[in-house]
Amino acid sequence: MTSILSTLATIAICVTALALLTLALLVSYRVSLKRHPYTDCRPCKGTGERRSRLFANSFGNCPTCTGTGYQLRAGARLFNVR
Ligand SMILES: [Zn+2]
Repeated sequence: MTSILSTLATIAICVTALALLTLALLVSYRVSLKRHPYTDCRPCKGTGERRSRLFANSFGNCPTCTGTGYQLRAGARLFNVR
């Protein structure tokens, strides 16, 4: 009888610890999104320019980031953090 209770108590402590850990991770991710909402644009690697395949010296603005070189992070887009 007591062993069942202690097993249940252990499970309850583990679940609570896991929930607290997840919460702490989520909060720190949210703070990070607020402080640094942008990331390097992946197609142009943060340069903001797209090179021509045919002519090595010609380039234009990257259409993904419109020449800025940065993009909103996926989390900032999902949770609408500005
Ligand atoms: Zn880009």
